[in-house]
Amino acid sequence: MAPSPRQQDRHAFYDGKVQCAAAAAAAAGSADTFQSIDPATAQPVATIYTSSRATVDAAVASAAAAFPGWAATAPLDRSRILHRAVRLLRARNDELARIETLDTGKPLSETSAVDVVTGADVLEYYASFIASGGLNGEALPLRRAAASPSPSLSSSPSPGRATAHAAVSTTASVFTSKEPLGVCAAIGAWNYPLQIALWKAAPCLAAGNTLVYKPSEYTPLHAQYLADILAEAGVPAGVFNVVYGAGPVGAQLAAHPAIAKVSFTGQVATGQKVAAAAAGGLKQVTMELGGKSPLVVLPDCDVDAAVDGAMMANFYSSGQVCTNGTRVFVPRAVQPAFERALVARMAHVRAGDLLDPATNFGPLSSAAHRDKVVAYIRRGLEHDRATLLYGGDTRTTPANAVAAQVPAPLRHGFWVQPTVFTDCTDDMAVARDEIFGPVMCILPYDSVDEAVQRANNTDLGLAAGVFGRDINQCHAVVSQLQAGITWINTWGESPAEMAVGGWKSSGLGVENGRKGIEAWVNNKSTLVELSGVVPTVFAKL
Ligand code: NAD
Repeated sequence: MAPSPRQQDRHAFYDGKVQCAAAAAAAAGSADTFQSIDPATAQPVATIYTSSRATVDAAVASAAAAFPGWAATAPLDRSRILHRAVRLLRARNDELARIETLDTGKPLSETSAVDVVTGADVLEYYASFIASGGLNGEALPLRRAAASPSPSLSSSPSPGRATAHAAVSTTASVFTSKEPLGVCAAIGAWNYPLQIALWKAAPCLAAGNTLVYKPSEYTPLHAQYLADILAEAGVPAGVFNVVYGAGPVGAQLAAHPAIAKVSFTGQVATGQKVAAAAAGGLKQVTMELGGKSPLVVLPDCDVDAAVDGAMMANFYSSGQVCTNGTRVFVPRAVQPAFERALVARMAHVRAGDLLDPATNFGPLSSAAHRDKVVAYIRRGLEHDRATLLYGGDTRTTPANAVAAQVPAPLRHGFWVQPTVFTDCTDDMAVARDEIFGPVMCILPYDSVDEAVQRANNTDLGLAAGVFGRDINQCHAVVSQLQAGITWINTWGESPAEMAVGGWKSSGLGVENGRKGIEAWVNNKSTLVELSGVVPTVFAKL
């Protein structure tokens, strides 16, 4: 990867540190390149070499060569190395957050407070987990009935043999150890690049595996920085490897015979292809996919709190969050007050220079994604005929209303006006499909049972949330919602201790928490016979 000659001043802090990747790629004979584009200016930031098939093979071979040594490293030693990486990540938060802002178009106020921090938190969590014996095996003393080791062996043809069994100890012991899978692959999406990389690399490396990571082609800049930090912390060469490129590079990884597991974050349709490719080798998969999550406002809610939740669930990261609560179910009686408070709150959405701490709303990540989101807004207006409550500007920049609010050099960025449709019905495309942009749909309802039934009426099941004063009712509603991640009276928080993953088409498996690392190990159960007698039907006569 090399810095583009057209770098702008605002890109000056990006120092092209990742040129070593370019050298490696060039050496491996890659001719194809792609560009990282700053979404705020639509200007190129860097040119990146697409990893050739030979480079991908070399990365997998490097991970395979490093595996035995890393797997044999004592958990406490792995933990010390990973803790050093955590300290480096935190110390370089500013630099990493700026890179994420440059690559994703998210305001620095977000990337510095959340993206790097939540990535480092998960690495710290698993580094501590393995040090405290979290991956130690489980031992189970096994006491079997005397003279009857198992039903199939109890009818020994030899009476003398049965007596011998009765005379000896009948205690055996079973233990299950957790062992690394081997070489794993991680394929990331563009909305939380560093966080996604760390949510996969942390449990993977902590458990003793080695990894080949492919970032999204839209947001590649963090990957080499992360590789450098891990190397500086003492992660041996070959344990964490990066390859670059679009779908074909990911597809090669997903089908690679030397890869034991694929952890994927992205769209449902891509996840299906990755799972199908991985199925050929019966690889393990973790799938973190899309959502169209319901946020259910209950009749007794604190309206201001519910509006806070709906704002976070729709406009944080300009709506580019997988768990977004874009279907906001509001009781008809509460609807007028909710909408008044919501429209007033829209004045607090501030587009602007992403490095300005006051900016809380950025452009979308790419021109292609901007076009997709604008097409949905147009569809909501013209085809679905949803009632427009706020926004709805379908002009692209620099004509879009948001572009007028930002400094001149940013007007050609991929800005889309935050938009709220109301009186939506479940069949509308805007209320049904994952848009992954700042588009909220308000769906009025008459009874809580109806809201729950409609909230669940989707193939997706990533997240769901409830706002209400009666905590018992909140729990009762959450218990009926079909989603892997749920919130009561808040939206979006996902600490390292919390296992997260989708139901239905939104995913397979979980990340984070104690459960998350289980997806990166093989279980090996061993039964030790302590009696000195081997149960057998072929006893000496
Ligand atoms: P995407 O599916 O387009 O791409 C994701 C990754 O897959 C990219 O690295 C891409 O290059 C790669 N890829 C594309 N085709 C491939 C193939 N055939 N084989 C292997 N890899 C392939 O997704 P995106 O647009 O980058 O990300 C947005 C999506 O990610 C949204 O649907 C969002 O909900 C989802 N997401 C989910 C979570 C979660 O935790 N559930 C988190 C973040 C994003």
